[in-house]
Amino acid sequence: MVKARKYVVKRAFQGLPKREDFEVVESELPPISNGEILVKTEWVSVDPYQRAYNSRYPTPYDQFSFQVGVVQDSKDPRYPVGTRVVSHRGWCDYYVGTPGGTEKSLNSTYKLPDLKGLSPSLGIGAVGMPGATAYFGFLEICKPKEGETVVVTGAAGAVGSIVGQIAKIKGCRVIGFAGSDDKVQWLEKELGFDKVFNYKTVDVNKALKEAAPNGVDCYFDNVGGEISSIIIKNMNTYGRVSVCGSISAYNEDALEGPKASILQPSIVFKELKLEGFIVSRWIDRWPEAFADLTKWILSGQLKTREHVTDGFDNIYDAFIGMLAGENTGKAIVRI
Ligand code: NDP
Repeated sequence: MVKARKYVVKRAFQGLPKREDFEVVESELPPISNGEILVKTEWVSVDPYQRAYNSRYPTPYDQFSFQVGVVQDSKDPRYPVGTRVVSHRGWCDYYVGTPGGTEKSLNSTYKLPDLKGLSPSLGIGAVGMPGATAYFGFLEICKPKEGETVVVTGAAGAVGSIVGQIAKIKGCRVIGFAGSDDKVQWLEKELGFDKVFNYKTVDVNKALKEAAPNGVDCYFDNVGGEISSIIIKNMNTYGRVSVCGSISAYNEDALEGPKASILQPSIVFKELKLEGFIVSRWIDRWPEAFADLTKWILSGQLKTREHVTDGFDNIYDAFIGMLAGENTGKAIVRI
C-alpha cells in the first residue's frame, strides 16, 4: 500500500489565495489494475492559471497542475517501471493513473519528451506547457518578421522569457517589461533582450517612445491592464497582439475588475489584430514545439532558468511567491 498526499481546494479563492483555502488530504492508494500505472511525483508546477481557473470549478477539487513523475509500478507494458511521465495530476506526491488516453486532452499522461540529458523538470517548463504557450502563442499569432519590434510583458517569467528569446532567434528587436531590477539585468545581460524596463519604476509610455522610436509591431501580452493599453497605443499599422494572459487582474474581483484606457481608437486607426488563445488549441502540435525548443536549448540559443522550491509542504508558498513575482524563470517545486 502506498500512502499518498494531495492538495484539495476546499474554498473558492477571494483575492490572494489563502493557506486555509487548501487542505492536504492523505489516502492509501489501491493496488493498480490492468492498464494503470503508479507514479511518484518528482516535480510540480505552480502557474498563474491555477489562480485564474479557480472560479470555474466547484469546490472541493484536487489542485491541478502539470507535473513530472516516475513510474513505480506498471500494468501497462508501454510504460515500464522507471518511465518518466508528464501529467496534469497536480499537487500530489503519488497517484494511480491510466496513461495515454486521447492524446488531445490536457488530462492525458504522456511520456516525458526526449530531453537529451537536460533536466526532466523542463517537461513542465520550457519543454512543457509554458514552452508551447510561448512558441505557438507568439509564432502563430504575432507572425513575427525579421527586423520587427516585439514587446513582451511578464518578460522574466516562464512564458515571457521564452517568447523574447524566440523573437531574437527570429531576428526581431525585443523590448521587455518585468518587475525588478534584477530581472531587467538578467534579461538584458544573459538572455540578450535589446532593452528591458522595470514596469514598477518607469514611465511606460516614455520608456517605450525612447526604446521603440519606430513603434511596436508585435505585442505578447502576459499581464493585461493599463500597461497593455499603453503598449497597444504605441503600435504600428497592422500590428499584432497575442493576448496570452492578464495576471495583473487574477486576484481582482472578476466582475468589477480594474479599469484601463480605451483601446478601440488604436485598434481601428492602426488596423490592429488582437487574438486571445489557450495553448491547448495546438496540443496535437506540442511535440513540434518541444523538438525546436530542445534543439535551441542544446545549441545555446535558448537559455532556461528555474526558480526551485523544495518540498511538498512548501507548494502553497511557492504558488503565492510566483503570484507575487518572486520567480525569475519557471517556478517549480521539487517533491
Ligand atoms: P510567470 O512565470 O510569468 O509568473 C508570474 C509573473 O507574473 C510573476 O513572476 C510576476 O513577475 C508577474 N506579475 C504578478 N503580478 C503582476 C502584476 N500585477 N502586473 C504585472 N505582472 C505581474 O508565469 P507564466 O509565464 O506561467 O504565465 C505568464 C502569463 O501567461 C500569465 O498571465 C498566464 O496566465 C499566461 N498563460 C496563458 C496560457 C494560455 O494558454 N493562454 C498558458 C500559460 C500561461 P513581475 O516581477 O514581472 O511582476
